[in-house]
This record gives sequence, C-alpha cells and structure tokens, in this order.
Amino acid sequence: MSFKTSSVSSSITQGVLSKMAEMEHEQVLFCHDKKTGLKAIIAVHNTVLGPALGGTRMWKYATEEEALNDVLRLSRGMTFKAAITGLKLGGGKAVIIGDAKTQKNEALMRSFGKFVQTLGGKYITAEDVGMETQDMVYIKQETNYVTGLPEEMGGNGNPSPVTAYGVYMGMKASAKFVWGNDSLAGKKVLVQGTGHVGETLIDYLTKENATVFVNDINEERVKQMVSKYNAIAISGNIYGEEVDIYAPCALGATLNSETIPQLRCSIVSGAANNQLLDEKLHGQMLKDKGIVYAPDFLINAGGIISVYAEVAGYNMQKTMEETAKIYDTTLNILNTAKEQNITTAQAAMNIAQERIDKAKAN
Ligand code: NAD
Repeated sequence: MSFKTSSVSSSITQGVLSKMAEMEHEQVLFCHDKKTGLKAIIAVHNTVLGPALGGTRMWKYATEEEALNDVLRLSRGMTFKAAITGLKLGGGKAVIIGDAKTQKNEALMRSFGKFVQTLGGKYITAEDVGMETQDMVYIKQETNYVTGLPEEMGGNGNPSPVTAYGVYMGMKASAKFVWGNDSLAGKKVLVQGTGHVGETLIDYLTKENATVFVNDINEERVKQMVSKYNAIAISGNIYGEEVDIYAPCALGATLNSETIPQLRCSIVSGAANNQLLDEKLHGQMLKDKGIVYAPDFLINAGGIISVYAEVAGYNMQKTMEETAKIYDTTLNILNTAKEQNITTAQAAMNIAQERIDKAKAN
C-alpha cells in the first residue's frame, strides 16, 4: 500500500487551501491506494469541542472537485451539528469516490481504514450514503476510530433509524410552530429519497396517518414504498407538487434558486445534509416565501447522537431520549428566528457558534 497524501498539482492545492481558509477547515487528507483503487478525501473542519466525527460517503462524483466541495461542506455542517446538539465532538467527514454498488469491497474499506488511522483519532468515521454497518466492521480491522458498528461489536448499529426519529421530531415541532398542533395526521408529506433514513421516516408518517408521497431515482425503492406503506409515487419535476411538508432525504442542495420558487409547501423538514445550496441566499428565499425551514444539521442529528453513544457509552434508550430533545431545540430555534427576524438556519448557526466560541475561550 502506498500512502500518497500530496498527489495533487500545486494549482489544485492552492484552490484547496483557499477553500479551507474560506470555510475554516483545519485539515484535509487526500487518500490514494493504487492496489485497491481507493480515492478518498477526509476533511477535518473543527476539533474545538472534541474529535471530528462524521460519516463516510461513497458516491460516483463526476469530478474530483465535486467530491472535494462535498466533503468540505459536509464536514463544516458536522461541526455545527455537534455543537447545536451539545455533543463533545468536532466536525469532520470523508468521501470515497466510486460506485458503492460495484466498487466497494473489504480491501477498499480496509485501505480507507488505514488512512483514518493515520489521523490518530482526530477524525472518527461512521456510515453515510453508500455505506453499510458491514463496511464499518471492515474499517474496524484497521482502526479503532470508527463508530456505527453492529450491536454484537458493542455498537448501536446503523444510525439511520435514529436519524429518522430525530427528523420526525423536528418535523412535528415545525408542524406545532406553523399550525399550533404537532399532529401530522392528514398532512401531505413528500419524502424525496427512500433509503435508510427515508424509509423509517415514511414508517413513522404512515403510522401517524399522514399522506405520504415518495420520489426516488431508484424505481425499485419507489415500488417497495408504494406496496409496503401505501405511499403515492411521484416522478418528474417534484418541486411544484402541492404538499404540506417537503422532506428532502436524498442528497443536498435541493433548495436552490431554481427549486424554491416552485415550492408549494409550508414546511421543509428532512434528513439530507446541506439542503440549502447557499445558506444565506436560499435560507432567505425560503423565509421570504413564508416557508418554515427546519435546519437540516439540527434535525438530522439523531445519527450523530447514535454514533456518539458508542463513544459516550449511552444505551439505546438514552440515545432515543437525547434524540427526542430535537423537538424542543427545533421549536426554540424557529421561535428565536421569528423573534429576531432572521432565517432559521442563521438562528441555529448562532447558537452553535456561540458554544464553539465559548469552548475556544476557555
Ligand atoms: P441512502 O443512500 O440509504 O438513501 C438515499 C436515497 O436517495 C437512495 O434511495 C437514493 O436512490 C435516493 N436518491 C439519490 N439521489 C436522488 C435524487 N436526485 N432524487 C431522488 N432520490 C434520490 O442514504 P440515507 O442514509 O438514507 O441518507 C439520506 C440523506 O440523509 C443523505 O443526505 C445523508 O447525508 C443524510 N443523513 C443521513 C444520516 C444517516 O444516519 N444515515 C444522518 C444524517 C444525515
């Protein structure tokens, strides 16, 4: 195995460093292993509150720049997520460039694990899109800095069900804020992305008698959701669909200048990371349109609470209790944003930043 941590041209390095400076990252590690074909990037955004914990995403990025931008944005989001959730963790994230369906194997995962180990605990990994609990087991053979392990190995398993519970709590709090009542019965909810998190969310919604619309690029998943939960499939341009709640549970940046003008919903509340393409601009556009946006990094924190539980030694009951607190935090942030006439994303960021600044000062 050959560790190549600086195999980028100087112009790209300059670009990376400028982006790191702009977004305030501490460290970025480029990982390449010829033998397994591994191409990965690990981004450590901030370690003021603790080690940078964040999942690894495996995705078929069209370009290396796209992968870099994703990992920089995702890792920064993790810093604020940990801070607002009150965890003793910093923010980090990793991406592996490749097709999780065809290119993922034990050797690739172990090769990635060796790179995680080189950071000596500054970065701790877990599952994200394209990764499974079994992948964490492979990674664990090379490093202890891995969470999201199966229960028989002392872990909490895949964090997605806990994430879905937190999103559900955030959605109910948003409903309470908008309609004065947190019942979702009879509400039309569009779930975009019916993967690990999306499906559990659909389960909660169905049990509460919401009317669930589903969309996924994977047609098989859509068929399963329709037959299992009686969901209504929608395809094509879904953004103009008249619903009460839009729940983005696929990938990020679906809230942008093209989609927001089309939205016909009262609430946006979903699991995807970095839903706003541009935090300020698109947060403001939603606010101007009167759409309540439950900040993603706040309501999808169930996953990090679940993996943090492995570090902190919580059991599942305590994990779910901690996750349930997302309801009150969401309501508090929506009210603060209203009082201060700022976007909900800004209100959440302000609280998270305050905690980081306080820790830095001590
Ligand atoms: P997943 O890979 O299990 O599911 C994602 C689903 O989205 C897949 O079914 C995929 O086919 C679908 N999809 C992808 N692109 C799409 C598109 N353009 N339109 C419609 N569907 C599309 O992932 P997951 O673990 O369920 O995570 C979903 C989102 O939630 C991601 O953004 C992830 O970063 C975020 N998130 C997940 C967790 C977690 O615990 N898994 C925690 C926090 C945040």
